[in-house]
Amino acid sequence: MNTPATPTRKVIPIAAAPGNGSGQLPPGADAEMVSLYAAHRKIYPRSVSGFFSHWRWAMVFLTQLVFYGLPWLEWGQRQAVLFDLTSRRFYIFNLVLYPQDFIYLTGILVISAFSLFLFTAVAGRLWCGYACPQTVYTEIFLWLEKRAEGDRAARLRRDAGPWNLDKLWRKGAKHFLWLAVALWTGFTFVGYFTPIHTLGREFIQMNMSSWENFWVFFYGFATYGNAGFMREQVCKHMCPYARFQSAMFDKDTLIVTYDQERGEPRGARSKKATASALNLGACVDCNLCVQVCPTGIDIRNGLQYECIGCGACADACDTIMDKMGYAKGLVKYSTENAIRQHWTQAQTLRHVLRPRVLVYVAILATVVTAMTVSLATRLPFKVDVVRDRGALARMAPGGRIENVYRLQLMNASESRQQFHIDVQGLPGLAVASEADVAVPSTESRWVAVRVQAPFEAAPSGSHTIHFEITAQDVPGRLLEKSVFIVPR
Ligand code: SF4
Ligand code: SF4
Repeated sequence: MNTPATPTRKVIPIAAAPGNGSGQLPPGADAEMVSLYAAHRKIYPRSVSGFFSHWRWAMVFLTQLVFYGLPWLEWGQRQAVLFDLTSRRFYIFNLVLYPQDFIYLTGILVISAFSLFLFTAVAGRLWCGYACPQTVYTEIFLWLEKRAEGDRAARLRRDAGPWNLDKLWRKGAKHFLWLAVALWTGFTFVGYFTPIHTLGREFIQMNMSSWENFWVFFYGFATYGNAGFMREQVCKHMCPYARFQSAMFDKDTLIVTYDQERGEPRGARSKKATASALNLGACVDCNLCVQVCPTGIDIRNGLQYECIGCGACADACDTIMDKMGYAKGLVKYSTENAIRQHWTQAQTLRHVLRPRVLVYVAILATVVTAMTVSLATRLPFKVDVVRDRGALARMAPGGRIENVYRLQLMNASESRQQFHIDVQGLPGLAVASEADVAVPSTESRWVAVRVQAPFEAAPSGSHTIHFEITAQDVPGRLLEKSVFIVPR
């Protein structure tokens, strides 16, 4: 079947249009000039209270209690959680990790990634709506903004009005509060990498190092900018997770949805009116769900990538449904399948356990178990063996062959350890230098170790040997491979 040719409309970005530097219009093209840059429309989210908002605030308190509180927690004689990059040691409560323990960091990253996949497959953007730092700090900054400038209507009125003393002091107070929180956040962040008590003293005496200064102000400035000004722009344009999270969604993922069937046709009406008599659905078209949305979208237009799943619109709509005497849940967490097939809550929940979710759970359980077992059975000391390149194999007095090594003994325990070095792999192989080495708690020490073997112990060439390290107070031994060279 022949279809009539439809006239094509050619849209030309301003930068490429004639008269704007380059580009020629093809003959006969019907052109319209559009800007690729949409002007930023400032969003004034209205505050909302309800079930999901309470959960969000609970998460704000919990996450910030942990973030601001953890660096001040003491563990014995040191900070409980400290990532000491200078001495290349990470302290996490009773764990002391060295760069050689990098595998645990990998494990933590794998667990975080799969937890995110799991939560997203089950309940959409739970992380974004309730625990992401961008959401949490925006919530805190919005709260401060409300204290200083009032709720949405007052802020809109003030911003549209001229500058006067009231506007000046309110805006000044808001920025002062924002800067205080931002600076405190930057300070706390650096407190995870440098002992926070020392940092506090340096901060008061204004003699922080240049790196500490840089990171306190950089992190503080990023918090101030992201939570105070950028807000939803970060979620919409900067966050990579917003782009790929939909790959983890399916028709059984919980998302914030508007029940179109129940809500439409929308329309205003008096509280006393009967919706069916007016041929109206449950939506009273009050626009409250749009006003409370931190990303400024209308959930009634369906699922949009800008939606961070915060549930503010569901809280707002429930308030209206309550006032109108209608059943709650016109906007609610539900799944595409549940809405289409009118499932009950129990039926919806039964579909949570599906193959994709079970695979995520299985992987997560495996990695968590492996990490737990590995950490529980981990020896609190480590060793690195480096052959001394300066000293090749040589003949020692008594007709023995000698090789020299450098051993780094790392004590990852909280007490001083006495280590014993032994070596095995060739007949008569023995440590000829000091075999007992003391290392203070959480410290490491380099020692030169001379190893000797009888001349007739092995033919010329290189032979695999093992250093065996034992600690006086800790059961278990550590074997580290190396080679012993027998010269011709
Ligand atoms: S549409 Fe609703 S759930 Fe989505 S971001 Fe806006 S208020 Fe939050
Ligand atoms: S809050 Fe509820 S009733 Fe009001 S416009 Fe939104 S969906 Fe409709």
